[in-house]
Amino acid sequence: MPTALVTGITGQDGAYLAQLLLDRGYKVVGLLRRSASADVIGARLRWLGILDHVELVDGNLTDLSSLIRVIETHRPDEVYNLAAQSFVAASWQQPLLTGAVTGIGAVNILEALRIARPEARFYQASSSEMFGLIQERVQTERTPFYPRSPYGVAKLYAHWMTVNYRESFGLHASSGILFNHESPLRGIEFVTRKITDGVARIKLGLARELPLGNLDAQRDWGHARDYVRAMWLMLQEKKPDDYVVATGRTVRIREFCDLAFGHAGLHAEEHVRVSQSLIRPAEVDVLQGDASKARAALGWSPETSLEDMVAEMVEADLVRHRARLAA
Ligand code: NDP
Ligand code: GDP
Repeated sequence: MPTALVTGITGQDGAYLAQLLLDRGYKVVGLLRRSASADVIGARLRWLGILDHVELVDGNLTDLSSLIRVIETHRPDEVYNLAAQSFVAASWQQPLLTGAVTGIGAVNILEALRIARPEARFYQASSSEMFGLIQERVQTERTPFYPRSPYGVAKLYAHWMTVNYRESFGLHASSGILFNHESPLRGIEFVTRKITDGVARIKLGLARELPLGNLDAQRDWGHARDYVRAMWLMLQEKKPDDYVVATGRTVRIREFCDLAFGHAGLHAEEHVRVSQSLIRPAEVDVLQGDASKARAALGWSPETSLEDMVAEMVEADLVRHRARLAA
């Protein structure tokens, strides 16, 4: 039975990836950072019904010794580095922490592998935020990067260090340049989940308004369940490489609002209010990815449409709020 170590297992992608790995017969070990709120931390794994099937081990991406210890103890065959301070807006408020976790943290785990388990295969969660102020209308693996936030800069450092460790030390290290991907397990601070949660609250009479920032930003949104499959496929390849993972379709935040409110029989323009405090210091206006390489080399393609994903997210938030009301 192969063993996979997943950092960030308590996050959106960690939960879906753990589910995929369990389905494929892996032993799944997840890195868990200590918290005084340990009781709520497994919520996503619990939602998927897999909390009892993964082994959670203490460690922190900023503590190299904890990573070495976990790797020496569990001797993983595959390591997926999904842990990060992952919220762009927060990265302007906590740029140093973002650098320490999202940037240096990736090098900590690369170092731990180099020292303790160089034969393991490694996946780095790179991001379309590295394209930032886009240099080409549609972004591929060859598009130059221009990050626009401390988060994007930290991810770019981690990305190039992954490439560097592959080239310097021969590690089987791959990097997935993933465009935004969402699901009912997306953090509530991200715009899609904020919208579907807002729709559910308005539908159930718990709120009347939804404050948002820039409604004209455009994103290429896919479903997290489809995107974790691409991560796994990358590590099954003989040779490590970098791949863009995207749907190729980009829509504005206001169109996402129309879909989500429309699904609940509501009109977005009656409820959405623009709040200047939610406008970012620098914006990534538009992202649109071309995943031709992943399609050709990995046989990967997305299976969930934006419309189906929005419906799934709104329905899940309605279920959550109805359960809370009934309790
Ligand atoms: P989440 O924010 O949902 O999850 C982040 C995870 O990182 C959580 O498990 C969190 O733990 C963990 N974490 C944070 N800091 C530390 C630390 N110091 N030590 C150990 N663990 C830590 O992110 P997603 O699941 O959405 O994304 C997964 C990865 O992919 C991230 O690296 C993200 O930046 C990247 N990415 C995501 C995209 C997306 O659209 N979702 C797009 C492109 C890249 P805790 O639960 O304790 O907070
Ligand atoms: P990001 O692409 O990783 O920054 O993902 P987000 O979901 O946080 O933001 C996507 C886009 O939505 C960005 O261009 C934001 O400026 C825009 N946006 C507009 N209103 C909001 C809001 O209220 N919250 C968030 N998180 N983003 C918003």
